[in-house]
Amino acid sequence: MIFLKILPLLIPLIIFLIPIISRSYLKFLFTKNKTNKDDLILACDKCGTYSHQSIIIKKRDKNFCSNECASA
Ligand SMILES: [Zn+2]
Repeated sequence: MIFLKILPLLIPLIIFLIPIISRSYLKFLFTKNKTNKDDLILACDKCGTYSHQSIIIKKRDKNFCSNECASA
């Protein structure tokens, strides 16, 4: 069976492609659900992680990526 022969070659390719596909799919979801144009990516004041403004937690005039960072 030729499929079994090419399968080991396909696995690294699939592993390589999954993050790319999921990333572009997430980007597609974000742009699809957005009605307004201010699509901002903000850096967390605590750990420096870049997060979309819809999941950013604003506290004491600072931006945080999560509740852990906001309360720390
Ligand atoms: Zn953070």
